[in-house]
Amino acid sequence: MKNTSFLLLVFATLVSFAFVMPKATVIKQINVVIDAGHGGSDTGVSIDGTTEKKITEQLITKIQAFNKNKNIVIHFTRSTDKFIPLDDRTTFINTIKPDLVLSLHVNSSSNTNKSGIEFYVSKESKSYEKSNLIAESFQSKFANSNYKVAEIKNANFYILKKSEVPAIIMELGYLTNKDDKKNLENSMEQNQIAKKIIECFEELN
Ligand SMILES: [Zn+2]
Repeated sequence: MKNTSFLLLVFATLVSFAFVMPKATVIKQINVVIDAGHGGSDTGVSIDGTTEKKITEQLITKIQAFNKNKNIVIHFTRSTDKFIPLDDRTTFINTIKPDLVLSLHVNSSSNTNKSGIEFYVSKESKSYEKSNLIAESFQSKFANSNYKVAEIKNANFYILKKSEVPAIIMELGYLTNKDDKKNLENSMEQNQIAKKIIECFEELN
């Protein structure tokens, strides 16, 4: 085959491929802000030396370490044991404009039998509907993995109201409940929760 006809054939093949080859699917980058509740002088719930601020901090460290998905970009309102006012947190959130704000907390109750995970959204949020849908997907993912998960609740917490993007609060369990406390303090259990949260992020697409 002459060089020119060979080149023409190569060209024609490339052109035809351009028409039949399916376009590479564009994978959307997912931006998430994780807000570790409390910090610094604000310990949150504190029971026998175990504090809410420490548990949420341990969890964000694990989420960051386990996230191997390059399409999930996670930002943190705090990564150290530092007090950050709520309005600073929401200013940071509204600058980043993520696809989701996940605020992590730990519960307490005078009823020591109360246990399990809870999700909160706010009807006052601009993104209430989307927040509720995301909370539902988190709820089912955890419930399907045998976690005790309550119904999604409405609350006008500052972070939920003031974030201009979908935002949910996840209460990881009750420090006032013996079994929840044991689980929340357990590194292996924390690993499971961290991995499950990343799976939930992967479904945000
Ligand atoms: Zn809290």
